[in-house]
Amino acid sequence: MLLTNDSLNEKTLGAALVRQPSQIGTFAIASLSSYATVGHEIGHLLGAKHEDSEVQYNGWWCETYMTPQGDSMKSNCYTYSPANRENIKNFLNSKA
Ligand SMILES: [Zn+2]
Repeated sequence: MLLTNDSLNEKTLGAALVRQPSQIGTFAIASLSSYATVGHEIGHLLGAKHEDSEVQYNGWWCETYMTPQGDSMKSNCYTYSPANRENIKNFLNSKA
């Protein structure tokens, strides 16, 4: 993963290319302008999915790392949803 201080463009803070297990070369780029972007792109590299992201409540509504488009009214949970933790666990187990 390449980390950069700047945004990729006006709308994009990160991107990941995730390939099938038989293919070589999975990589990502993430802007450090938001810590959540690093968590999001690492999630892509480890098998986490947008559709398994969720909104949680920790004193205020927050979004887990894999939320595709952040809502400025919500904070960041700085965690993965339980479903994405399971996805990551399964991905890592498949590599063992
Ligand atoms: Zn994404």
